[in-house]
Amino acid sequence: MIANQFVGLVLKNKSESCKNITYLKTVIMGNKKYNQKQILRLISFTILIFSFLAKTNLYAQNIPSPESVFGHEVGATYHLINYEQSIDYFMKLAEASNRMEIVQVGHTSEERPWYISVISTPQNLKNLEKFRENNMRIAHPEGLSEENLKELIKDQPVFIDINGGLHAGEIAGSQHTNQFAYELMTMNQEEFKYFFENTILVLWPTLNPDGQNIVVDWYKEIKNTDHPTAPLNKVYQKYVGHDNNRDGYMLNMQESKVLAHTWRNWEPEILHVHHQQGHSSEQTDYHRIWLPPFASPVGVHTPPRILREMNTLGMQMAQELETRGLTGATHLGEAYDAYYTGYNDYINMYHNTIAYWTEVDGGQNQWGEPYKIAEEKVLEKLGTFRARNLLVSPWKGGQWNLSDQVEYMVAVNYGVLKYAKNNREDILYNRYKAGMETIENYPEASPAAYIIPQEQDDPNNAVTMLRRLAFNGVKINQFTKETTIGELSYQAGTWVIPTNQVFGNLVPEILGIQEYPHIMQGDELKVPYDVAGWTLPYSMGVDVHPIADPLSDKTVQAMTPVKGVPTKWDANKKAEFTANAVAAGIVSPTKAIEGSGSFLVLDPTVNHSYILINRALKNGGKVTHHKNGYNSRSNGQYIVSGIDKNTLSTWVKELNIPGQWTKTNSGKSLNRLRIGLYQPWHGSLYDVGWTQWLLEEHEYDVDLLYNNAFKDGKTIKNYDVVIFPSIGTARRGGENKDSFILHGYSKDETLEKYAGGIEEEGVNALKSFVADGGKLVFLNESTEFAIKHLNLQVENVVKDKNRGDFYGSGSLFRAKINQDNAIMSGVSKETDIYFNNSPVFKTKNGFQGSVLVSYPETATILRSGYLTGEEHLKGNAAALQINQGKGSIVLFGFSPQWRGQTFGTFKMLFNSLYH
Ligand SMILES: [Zn+2]
Repeated sequence: MIANQFVGLVLKNKSESCKNITYLKTVIMGNKKYNQKQILRLISFTILIFSFLAKTNLYAQNIPSPESVFGHEVGATYHLINYEQSIDYFMKLAEASNRMEIVQVGHTSEERPWYISVISTPQNLKNLEKFRENNMRIAHPEGLSEENLKELIKDQPVFIDINGGLHAGEIAGSQHTNQFAYELMTMNQEEFKYFFENTILVLWPTLNPDGQNIVVDWYKEIKNTDHPTAPLNKVYQKYVGHDNNRDGYMLNMQESKVLAHTWRNWEPEILHVHHQQGHSSEQTDYHRIWLPPFASPVGVHTPPRILREMNTLGMQMAQELETRGLTGATHLGEAYDAYYTGYNDYINMYHNTIAYWTEVDGGQNQWGEPYKIAEEKVLEKLGTFRARNLLVSPWKGGQWNLSDQVEYMVAVNYGVLKYAKNNREDILYNRYKAGMETIENYPEASPAAYIIPQEQDDPNNAVTMLRRLAFNGVKINQFTKETTIGELSYQAGTWVIPTNQVFGNLVPEILGIQEYPHIMQGDELKVPYDVAGWTLPYSMGVDVHPIADPLSDKTVQAMTPVKGVPTKWDANKKAEFTANAVAAGIVSPTKAIEGSGSFLVLDPTVNHSYILINRALKNGGKVTHHKNGYNSRSNGQYIVSGIDKNTLSTWVKELNIPGQWTKTNSGKSLNRLRIGLYQPWHGSLYDVGWTQWLLEEHEYDVDLLYNNAFKDGKTIKNYDVVIFPSIGTARRGGENKDSFILHGYSKDETLEKYAGGIEEEGVNALKSFVADGGKLVFLNESTEFAIKHLNLQVENVVKDKNRGDFYGSGSLFRAKINQDNAIMSGVSKETDIYFNNSPVFKTKNGFQGSVLVSYPETATILRSGYLTGEEHLKGNAAALQINQGKGSIVLFGFSPQWRGQTFGTFKMLFNSLYH
């Protein structure tokens, strides 16, 4: 069955909806070939639980097997199923079975329709909307007594969400869902009832549909070449690839919004995301799968009872593997912490969902190429095969195929189903109770609330931040009248986020300051698996006031919940924040343009000003920059002329930016820029995509420049400015540790057309480009390449420091701004920058240029995250402008556009293109 939209979940009658979908009528009947191994395993499994019920399964006869549809078994080596094939298969299953519905949840970046399946007993599916509503009530338990809860959950199934994973390059994920769905559809009635009488499963064929095709297409391109194992040459989700699970609270990407929207409409009790750990033939390992519990530290505000459930569920999965004789199950505690709130998988813990991921050992590459490890080698590494407490049965080596990876994934899914069905009441109760406890624990847990004034340096950043919170299910209020708290008085319209709400734990996780704990592992500092700090008010430059003490009755009475009129979900195949009613109600007041004249003055502090500048230049307007401040706070201003007043007024209104009319357009003229963005042939250098996304969002025209554009010595002459996003050595071993920009992958590693970097010819082309007046901008790790190959009089003072001496990666640092330089137009004297594997600069004799950003000599530098070795930062530079020939080079020794989150420093990058 196919339903068009998730909102409201209006599922049509099966026979009716299928009339419209002609290809569904081609249901493969009969002619099915069972996977022999599968039958054996299913039978043994059936015997295990229902020995008395073992009998021929008549029901299964109408269900098409994977082999009958794909022409091979799921997980057959060198045979991959792409997204369309998988959806076609799921639709055939749904057509043939009354145990499955298909629902469309939105579209992907490449505008593919995105489908999920819902699996349960026909009886449960008939009452799906009622159960969903009950589930939403349990997830939002305000005012629900324990007595009423008992009544509500009497027959209420647990909602489980299992999926084919976020990372398409971890290919078994998107493959295994086909197998799992087939097994569930062909299970005999009694066994199916055993699992699904008390549960409803949402099974996503994949969380990365575009990526599944990108990976399968790449495999087809290379499989018959000399390089059948070449690494993917581009990202597997538009812009961000593997970073698609680092967008949980920001929701910048289309896919992230679809996930959050869907999860907030179901509020599953359990959310299991499959991942895989990479493997190479040189590695010897006795682990096959990593399950919860995670390593420490876990998120500070994780609800304890939900975390405890996650740990128990991890053990249940391990037990299921053991029961099936699948060895090598271990726990994430050995490798992965759950500290970063930005994980799209883990963030749902703050929605009181048991949300986590697992990692099955991958094959040697993106398509799970088999490998074999001899038992002696494993034993040599492990010393003994004796059971350990968390590694009860080490894997003893042998063959490891894609089919094994699929088998492990399917097996743990059964573990999840069992956990859910056996613990139904506890799970529902804990879901309810975790929400109630969050409501009751604040304000004791403090802060009681966060206050966000409407008067902001950049009003849109506050709106942007709040809309993301709202889309993530956080309720937001506004003062209806002027209200005083402590010594501060807040105007009507001021936003208030009380933390005593059901998803209240999420608020300090995102708006609060992170303090990554100092943990030693032996002699080594335990560094975060991802990052240490991300405080949005700092990275976005939003003025936010945490209120420690409980709000007074008077204050509470002055608040009203924000609610707007939501836009249609997935309209124009685009996921918009405003589809959420709260988010739709978050708008900042518009201000009339002051002054007189027909030229428009813009505040460089405001990110949307740059959109207007780009529009003006594209439409033949003139834009000048003047060093006089836009106002007493802001240094610099932009003046737009040559565009009629009506058009300018419309843009100002649409972009919601401050503006003033003036009669003079003095200052330095800006050119309409031809911008090049370096794009390496690499699938996991995500900074390129984040940069591209950011520039496109602000209406810059950007061309991606591949190696040849540099090597030919000509193409880059067509550009005014070329940006090198953060690219480090990024090599898979080898002796050449130079930047990936220079030599890329070697011809031994990939197809000839994707091998190499910009090479010496490219370096020479860059030198003449700058000598002739071009501008180069290097971000973060790419600065190392620039210093070394463009002979800059700059050194990186932390280059060879070890972790004990200096570590601060993934943190927000306080920096001093050189406001005299036009590149820092609109940036406050002191501002927070994102430090992430970053260099720290000292200029050398002969340096010509200026320091743009530096670390303070005296003040505390760490704002959020972790820092050891502050003395290496003090007084040194974080960004430089270097004059060379007729042109210039800008080095950002941090990430002004980190993951599209650092709204407070975007303007540094924008300005650097013009000045
Ligand atoms: Zn992964």
